[in-house]
Amino acid sequence: MEKCEWELVFDENEVHYTSECGGEWFFFEGTREENQMNLCPFCGEPIHEKELIV
Ligand SMILES: [Zn+2]
Repeated sequence: MEKCEWELVFDENEVHYTSECGGEWFFFEGTREENQMNLCPFCGEPIHEKELIV
């Protein structure tokens, strides 16, 4: 893989992401961008965030 696709999931109290490589990550405050996480902690590839269609 050249990138890892992350999908944003809105939970009640936190921001929750699921990653293409099968991981899950929670941020207690802010989004992935606000937490400056650019590499997937599970597979080490650059994170590509899925576009949200609202
Ligand atoms: Zn990954």
